[in-house]
Amino acid sequence: MKEAEDTVSFIRDYYQRSNFIPLHEPKFLGNEKKYVCNTIDSTFVSSVGAYVDKFEDMMASITAVKKAVAVVNGTAGIQVALRLAGVKEGDEVITQALTFVATANAIKYNGAEPVFLDVDYETMGLSHIALKHFLEEYGEIRDDGCFNKISGKKISACLPMHTFGFPVKIDKIIPICEEWNIPVVEDAAESLGSSYKGKHTGAFGKLGVFSFNGNKIVTSGGGGAIVTNDELVGKKAKYLTTTAKISHPYEYIHDELGYNFRMPNLNAALVCGQLESLSEFVDKKRKLANKYDQFFDGLGIKFRKEPEHSRSNYWLMCVELQNKRDREEFLKYTNQNGVMTRPIWKLMYKLDMYKDCFRDNQKNAEFLEDRIVNIPSSIR
Ligand SMILES: *Cc1c(COP(=O)(O)O)cnc(C)c1O
Repeated sequence: MKEAEDTVSFIRDYYQRSNFIPLHEPKFLGNEKKYVCNTIDSTFVSSVGAYVDKFEDMMASITAVKKAVAVVNGTAGIQVALRLAGVKEGDEVITQALTFVATANAIKYNGAEPVFLDVDYETMGLSHIALKHFLEEYGEIRDDGCFNKISGKKISACLPMHTFGFPVKIDKIIPICEEWNIPVVEDAAESLGSSYKGKHTGAFGKLGVFSFNGNKIVTSGGGGAIVTNDELVGKKAKYLTTTAKISHPYEYIHDELGYNFRMPNLNAALVCGQLESLSEFVDKKRKLANKYDQFFDGLGIKFRKEPEHSRSNYWLMCVELQNKRDREEFLKYTNQNGVMTRPIWKLMYKLDMYKDCFRDNQKNAEFLEDRIVNIPSSIR
């Protein structure tokens, strides 16, 4: 496949590397080492320490929310955010089938069932049209919330995900959810540095969650953050993720089933260093996206660009191939030649543990599943 050969040359040339080129690798260009060493010197490497507080302040400021809470990873963050939104065992949570498995898992950890709706073609995130149709057909507003009148279960949250850093059309999703009395939790794990109409992703819903796993735009080694504009919910997030302990000078009083989902200070130190470079990383990624766009345009392959009204962090960049056969050829050639590429995720209802969940027609999700391929997206 000529296009795949040209792509491999272009990417090798861009990175100036003849060895293996991964999809995404972390970069440590600033104070990371210094901050991590500070935690060791101070002995505060674990669950208490100044960098955890500093990280929470930095996150609140970057996303312009009232409160950010550091957690052990993004998945745990989504799990707790859903619980704080009111999700209980036996409920239903609306999300998209085209996502990373953690989105659906976090719903299941609360004993709730995911409802998989189609995505918007342009954003590759939850479709507000599919959402509206689903609620018009199945939704029923009662005194204590929105219910699925067919299954009889409460629909207690909506969890859209900002795919690869491209913001979903959140200003269309929120009013629909408000009308139906359903709280919104944003899976913003991939979208740190992305904004929609000037507002940071994660800051629109009742809660938003970010991930700082090693493959994300910036990393804490492993970690996450819950953000919210509701101070009470923010306090509750801190309390639930730190074993639900009532503050007392010496007694251990835990008045609810909490979690040990704290982010260690060692990891917070690393990510504090990383966050200082975030805007530089986003700028560099956007420049790479521009280069890719021009290059793929010349090849006749569609490079996926940020949706209207949004500024994307271009965390993982991707191309849309003509059909599944082209996708296979492209994946095979690039990977055999040491340039890592990956297909977009399998749709969630194709995984064994989610095969019986409700899903709608999935027209866009299935189209994208057959065609989207991620390409190396690290900055130089
Ligand atoms: C990375 C990711 C998560 C989970 O984050 P972890 O920190 O790895 O637990 C959740 N949702 C999406 C969409 C992700 O990409």
